[in-house]
Amino acid sequence: MTDSPALAVLQRVFGYETFRAEQQSIVEHVIAGGDALVLMPTGAGKSLCYQVPALVREGVGVVVSPLIALMQDQVDALTELGVRAAFLNSTQDWQGARDVERAFLQGEIDLLYVAPERLLTDRCIQLLERGRIALFAIDEAHCVSQWGHDFRPEYLGLSMLHERWPDVPRIALTATATQTTRREIAERLALGEARQFVASFDRPNIRYHIVEKSDVRRQLLTLLRQEHDGDAGIVYCLSRNKVEETAEFLRANGIDALPYHAGLGSALRAQNQSRFLREDGVVMVATIAFGMGIDKPDVRFVAHIDLPKSIEGYYQETGRAGRDGLPATAWLAYGLADVVQQRRMIDESTGDDAFRRQLGAQLDAMLGLCETITCRRQRLLQYFGQAIAPCGNCDNCLQPPQAWDGTVAAQKMLSAIYRLWKERGQRYGAGHLIDILRGKQTARVSDNGHDSLSVFGVGKDLSEQAWRGVLRQLLAHGLVMVDQEGYGTLALTEASRAVLRGERTLMLRREADRPATRATSRTRLADPELDSVAQIAFDALREWRSEVARSHGVPAYVIFQNATLREIAIARPDSLSALSRVSGVGAKKLESYGRLILERLAALDTGVVRLSQPA
Ligand code: ADP
Ligand code: ZN
Repeated sequence: MTDSPALAVLQRVFGYETFRAEQQSIVEHVIAGGDALVLMPTGAGKSLCYQVPALVREGVGVVVSPLIALMQDQVDALTELGVRAAFLNSTQDWQGARDVERAFLQGEIDLLYVAPERLLTDRCIQLLERGRIALFAIDEAHCVSQWGHDFRPEYLGLSMLHERWPDVPRIALTATATQTTRREIAERLALGEARQFVASFDRPNIRYHIVEKSDVRRQLLTLLRQEHDGDAGIVYCLSRNKVEETAEFLRANGIDALPYHAGLGSALRAQNQSRFLREDGVVMVATIAFGMGIDKPDVRFVAHIDLPKSIEGYYQETGRAGRDGLPATAWLAYGLADVVQQRRMIDESTGDDAFRRQLGAQLDAMLGLCETITCRRQRLLQYFGQAIAPCGNCDNCLQPPQAWDGTVAAQKMLSAIYRLWKERGQRYGAGHLIDILRGKQTARVSDNGHDSLSVFGVGKDLSEQAWRGVLRQLLAHGLVMVDQEGYGTLALTEASRAVLRGERTLMLRREADRPATRATSRTRLADPELDSVAQIAFDALREWRSEVARSHGVPAYVIFQNATLREIAIARPDSLSALSRVSGVGAKKLESYGRLILERLAALDTGVVRLSQPA
């Protein structure tokens, strides 16, 4: 037994034995009435950091979240745990909201989820003032960051919480955490005095893998077929069109893929999201409009088929894979066209120079990650100010790429770019540039007299693909730019001079002859702990879980997570008290499902006996 009320709640309600890393100090700090700013990667366990204090402290824990579409699932999950939870948002009818308000005032609620725009209404503020508040949790706190990718203007209003309820502790949580964002959150939410808890951002079970784009749909299909057959995953695309096309392509190839983007209409979006959450093995093809707050634990891969705009966004998106701690893949395909497109988008974006510079710096960091020949994870974590040793679980660690001295090749290409740029008014693409270097007599080459240029044919030693790699890296390193005033033609930059003059050596990443889609053999590892008997039990428990989930109308993981079922399958408890010791089986779930599970397991035993001793 324990005398810590927080630990008692953790064990009794959630069925977990111990707190993870930072959770304990966060929970204790908030219970004692302190404000906290919590930075933890996705899947590390942020929810418990406010749920446990809300249950320990007197009054209602008010959770501010922008994710209206997920509130029902969150409330269902808490209800399954025996926690009295409810939400107030625009999906409710008038009567539903009245019921919640009444329950709140009568002290019948432990946790109340509220959308920020709702919270800021007079009606809601007056309601909250009539009840007792245990704490305010501000989830997805990075939404207050104006330069971030998830900015929600309503979040700016949340600083009023501090003014109205100076004695109620506030805990702001996010998985996005550069120094700048952190400062912005603290400032805008008036959390300057709050204690900051920064967890390690490492997600060691995610294998990072970045490939050169060739035929991206085929590459994606190969990845899904060879490494993630039947797995749930997310494919991110930049545009709505591409989402539609890619989803269609995958469906035509027998993959259960659904589209998701802001143009789809809210009913269809909700339906697709619900299928992704509730069914096994659905692939969601989406713009970045999808995913915040999706806490499906068994997303096995996140694939990006377009270059993300920043490492911050990228890390958050890939973090949606493998929350259950089992092996997962983060895969990104990118190529020359991505770099050109992103640079152009920045040049054409509205906003002042400082804003554009900021976007440019974010893109540069992302490109640095793509082109690095050292550990990807090291690079990623370095961006968040954390140092680690090479990880052994990224493509660069598993199959170290080679570097080559690309100085001479770069000089050739830069001279060719300079020659073409001087003919302003004509826009020549990468293909033409490479034709010139490789001495190819195309119509375009001879029509423009480009076969008489001194650079014509000086690059026969490299393949077309290798040249594309050189150009992409020159763009990535800022040695070539897309000149908007010169009709989008390629141009030199200030930095190119040093290379042209031979003052700077340029080490480039060697392109594989045939782009590999995978680093090693299958990512999906056989689970060494599940022997065939345990596997049968696991499958039976999963089947039972689907039946229960369907009849309750909730996602399967709300009933029990895979990790819990797996442990039950291995431990084979034969009594309620043995079952209660399994991680993830709290008091309420034991009461609701304990007997049913024991019966299922017992039925299996008789089945096994019958098999081995035929009558
Ligand atoms: P986040 O919000 O940080 O993305 P969640 O709060 O959804 O993460 O937690 C991720 C997973 O880890 C959930 O399945 C949760 O039940 C589990 N978890 C969190 N804390 C613990 C703990 N102390 N012991 C065991 N499992 C935990
Ligand atoms: Zn690595």
